Amino acid sequence: MTWFHKNKAPLTNSEKRDVPNDVFDQCKGCDKILYAEKLIQSLRVCPSCNYHFRISPDEYVDLLLDDGSFEEIDANLKNEDPLKFTDLKPYGERLRSAERKVGRNSAVLSGMGTIGSHRVAVALMDFRFVGGSMGSLVGEKIARAGRAALDYRIPLIVVSASGGARMQEGIYSLMQLAKTSSVLARLHTEGLPYISLLTDPTTGGVTASHAMLGDINIAEPGALIGFAGPRVISDTIRQELPEDFQTSEFLLSHGMIDCVVDRRDLKYTIETLLTHMIG
Ligand SMILES: [Zn+2]
Repeated sequence: MTWFHKNKAPLTNSEKRDVPNDVFDQCKGCDKILYAEKLIQSLRVCPSCNYHFRISPDEYVDLLLDDGSFEEIDANLKNEDPLKFTDLKPYGERLRSAERKVGRNSAVLSGMGTIGSHRVAVALMDFRFVGGSMGSLVGEKIARAGRAALDYRIPLIVVSASGGARMQEGIYSLMQLAKTSSVLARLHTEGLPYISLLTDPTTGGVTASHAMLGDINIAEPGALIGFAGPRVISDTIRQELPEDFQTSEFLLSHGMIDCVVDRRDLKYTIETLLTHMIG
């Protein structure tokens, strides 16, 4: 019965074939192991269950704007630490490590580009940078993208991804909500379209300001969208909360957003909407 037994010794480390870490990804929706290359081709949407992986602002630029049309603006603006705040570590240190991780000095990438025949101003939030939280620089860059839209009389598109206010900047963080909202109000007065795209996750002060103020509010499937966390809400209203009540689909069915659009259809959808709104 020896054929049931392994006679071969296990491979030593030097005999094992090197498989790079980035060849496969595991889907968080269905747990399937996916080829990273195929996942990139499907715009990081799981081909089996439609789970939308989080993607970076640069990937949204590639996805939404025409090839080579993007021109970044305000790239040299820097974060400030007005309160010299320290929690588990100094805020300044937190900013430096986020800058190193993301390769950019802000949680927003902004600029201008084209979607088909439409020139647009865009601001795209980066959840990897201190949770995409709303600090003064984030608010300033979104407001400036709005002002660029006003100056050139073109539509504004903001892609949101945020954990909420940046508490290390205290009141300066909250002031951004008014600043961004006032620029959006000017766009509205001038009749220039503003499209808001809510991605996973969009919460806190960002949901309470520019993310929900679009002429059209679009969400990606399955995105977490809310203001306060479920525990805070259930403690406040003393009621059990429905399952999945902070998802794109739940918000759509309760009239809080206008549509849920698969990432692979986003560019076409936005281009069509812009054509309807401005001709
Ligand atoms: Zn999946």
